[in-house]
Amino acid sequence: MRTIDHWINGTTVPSGSGRTAPVFDPATGIQQAVVALASTGEVDDAVASAVAAFRTWRTSSLSKRAEVMFRFHQLVLEHRDEIANLVSSEHGKVPSDAAGELARGIENIEFACGIPQMMKGSFSEQVSGGVDVYSIRQPLGVVAGITPFNFPAMVPMWMFANAIACGNTFILKPSEKDPSVSLLLARLLKEAGLPDGVFSVVQGDKVAVDRILEHPDIAAVSFVGSTPIAKYIYSTGTANGKRVQALGGAKNHMVVLPDADVDMAADAAVSAGYGSAGERCMAISVVVAVGGIGDRLVEAISDRLPRLKVGPGTDPNAEMGPLITREHRDKVASYIESAPDEGAVVVVDGRDNDLPAEGFFLAPTLLDNVKPGMRAYDDEIFGPVLSVIRVSTYEEAVDLVNRHQYGNGTAIFTRDGGAARQFQFDIQVGMVGINVPIPVPVAYYSFGGWKASLFGDANMYGPAGIDFYTRTKTVTSRWPDPSTSTVDLGFPRTR
Ligand code: NAD
Repeated sequence: MRTIDHWINGTTVPSGSGRTAPVFDPATGIQQAVVALASTGEVDDAVASAVAAFRTWRTSSLSKRAEVMFRFHQLVLEHRDEIANLVSSEHGKVPSDAAGELARGIENIEFACGIPQMMKGSFSEQVSGGVDVYSIRQPLGVVAGITPFNFPAMVPMWMFANAIACGNTFILKPSEKDPSVSLLLARLLKEAGLPDGVFSVVQGDKVAVDRILEHPDIAAVSFVGSTPIAKYIYSTGTANGKRVQALGGAKNHMVVLPDADVDMAADAAVSAGYGSAGERCMAISVVVAVGGIGDRLVEAISDRLPRLKVGPGTDPNAEMGPLITREHRDKVASYIESAPDEGAVVVVDGRDNDLPAEGFFLAPTLLDNVKPGMRAYDDEIFGPVLSVIRVSTYEEAVDLVNRHQYGNGTAIFTRDGGAARQFQFDIQVGMVGINVPIPVPVAYYSFGGWKASLFGDANMYGPAGIDFYTRTKTVTSRWPDPSTSTVDLGFPRTR
């Protein structure tokens, strides 16, 4: 059985912990590898190499760091298919979806190539007679990233591209469910000229995470994952004096006003609800039909579902793959099971399918007449189950979204610019789409939800990423009076 190891100090390191976890092919249900689960000692080894590497990486010039990022960018483009296929084989998303994930990750490498511009500080001349004040950005030291299964290439890139470009050294603890791509990225970073120890991968579970959270030589932790773990990471990491950014789960509503283009809204709901089998933190999971548009919308969405081809990533026609594990598939299916008892209508049941029984498949499901208080509405399902809620007015729709515990993303579909502007003003959600169902900000903005979708106040990547991975030092300086200078400055000189 293939073993997926750590990457420490520029090379693969077999695990000595004796603990492993299985890695499956979700399309066949067959175990394809075991991943090492680090001991605390192995985390310590990675941190020690990152501490040593920081001493020299921190002094490398901005142009050298940018050069490494440019080369890495080129290598990722050259290996795009290999990366996408690797993601597909362990995650289950179809390769075109994996390529889309990668494209959104690559944006962050492009952004990091501009690091000389972004590391600029600020300068105020003559704040007092002969006194100048300036601030400089400096890296934090060793920083760590803990990432979820659903974007095994993109989410690490959200973090490490900026972290490394800022002069930090980085330790990645990827999801143990699809860990292989982390090692491929590590090899490409080395090939791009990144010195050993600047980027390490520690495979693992809670043992590794807890050691990261308490390690005195780790200055900051970036986390993306589910809300209970995000909350734990934030509270534990900050209690240990670390800078922490922790992004959690989501329940994203798409509000469709009565004047919306029904076909456009239905296309958007299908691609944003079922793409990547609904395992996206920005997936649309609730369609809020306002006024009389509900019947037409439900019909338009359900008409489209038989045409959505579900299958393994190896099938070039497949548009949606399996879920990540059998347990997760069964949990998602349990929401369909309980929906009728709670008063919802199952319009399309994804359990009725002829997909390979051994794979972790569940076809697209559509629930109607869903209401707050039902499990299918209150919980983050994280699967191909789209719920429709019917409300009478715009105010009801906004109130519904604002009362939900999550506030990651939302979208409004309308032809009315005034209504759209009002929505962007009223809605208590971090990322808003106007006729755009998945409003993931481009890499030169920053990503972050509100409420239970983000702990602390640090957004991820873009300008917020540069802020997170640097700290400011402010210098107030006064040089001796020019009249005392040993150099002839040409008198009289006054301050
Ligand atoms: P998860 O929280 O189970 O795992 C995330 C990471 O935390 C993994 O590396 C995992 O090994 C680690 N972990 C899991 N349990 C832990 C524990 N008890 N103690 C310490 N560490 C632990 O999340 P997941 O299932 O891998 O990913 C799906 C979740 O991530 C969804 O809730 C989704 O909404 C969320 N997500 C959010 C965003 C965002 O930007 N807000 C992006 C992607 C995914």
